[in-house]
Amino acid sequence: MDEFQIISRFFERSNKDKSVQFGIGDDGAILSPDPNRHLVSVMDTLIEGVHYPSSLSPKDIGYRAVEINLSDLAAMGARPRWMSLALTIKEADESWLTNFSEGLFMSADRYSMPLVGGDTTNGKIDVISIHLIGDINPDTAMTRCGAKEDDFIFISGYPGEAAAGLYIFENDSSSLDYTYLKRRFCRPSARIELGEKLSSIATAAIDISDGLYGDAQKMLKASGLGGCINIDKIPISASLKNCFDEKYIKRFIFSGGDDYELLFSANPNKKSLIDKIAKELCIPITCIGKVLSCDNITCEENGKTVDIDDSGYIHFKST
Ligand code: ADP
Ligand code: MG
Repeated sequence: MDEFQIISRFFERSNKDKSVQFGIGDDGAILSPDPNRHLVSVMDTLIEGVHYPSSLSPKDIGYRAVEINLSDLAAMGARPRWMSLALTIKEADESWLTNFSEGLFMSADRYSMPLVGGDTTNGKIDVISIHLIGDINPDTAMTRCGAKEDDFIFISGYPGEAAAGLYIFENDSSSLDYTYLKRRFCRPSARIELGEKLSSIATAAIDISDGLYGDAQKMLKASGLGGCINIDKIPISASLKNCFDEKYIKRFIFSGGDDYELLFSANPNKKSLIDKIAKELCIPITCIGKVLSCDNITCEENGKTVDIDDSGYIHFKST
């Protein structure tokens, strides 16, 4: 199979979306955005052996590659619109491509988001780069930098589950809870609906990709503030408790990453509205701390200040 056969067999689908004037097949895609919305552009790359274990199934790789990008749109409060895919593969393996594209479209179809173009190349390891364009109401876009002093800090879902799932993946064990946690790594669920609802409520937001502590730091630093996280309030899932002791759980939560939940700040008077949204979407949302006018984050447990020795996964350590 050559590059063009791969594209037409696995990635080209009939275009039903009116916003796509030209999609796959021309030199570029021509897209018509809604006149009253702003565009949000995000991109994330997955490298085999770096961002996922080589043993991850192609269907999970495809699904996960789209969801982690969707998660960035969710953190901005954006609605997904169009997707491009730059795919580097070691070989044109029919079964791999069938399953990969199935996983990719399974995620994209949740938001009727068409694949409008890309690039296909041959390389020594598999590299999947996805570019998404979403759109937002310009008046309510969320960023990392709007947190205000005395805002509450909230988190969606149960942090640490995906990191535990990756750990299990790499250490190969099986049980019902293990299978569930592994799935949280393989099939993350971007919080798109939550992001859209929060966009007019939250003052700042970030998606958790590198661990709760590091990402909270990024958001508060961007806002020029600090804060306090109350460790006792962080929700811990039953599966995590069943499988790991406290030391591991804390490591997964604070520096594990891959959760793709939303961390956000909001005025305390929005708490009941946020509780209502959590109920509506069946997503747990928990208040875990407070924004303070200082330049770092302190953590408290049982009323005492504690040290967190890891600030999340850092890709490039400065020397
Ligand atoms: P060009 O010669 O203009 O660089 P290509 O030959 O790379 O174009 O690609 C042909 C068409 O297929 C383009 O419209 C491109 O956007 C699309 N395309 C290439 N690879 C992919 C892919 N992996 N997924 C979706 N569309 C792709
Ligand atoms: Mg061209």
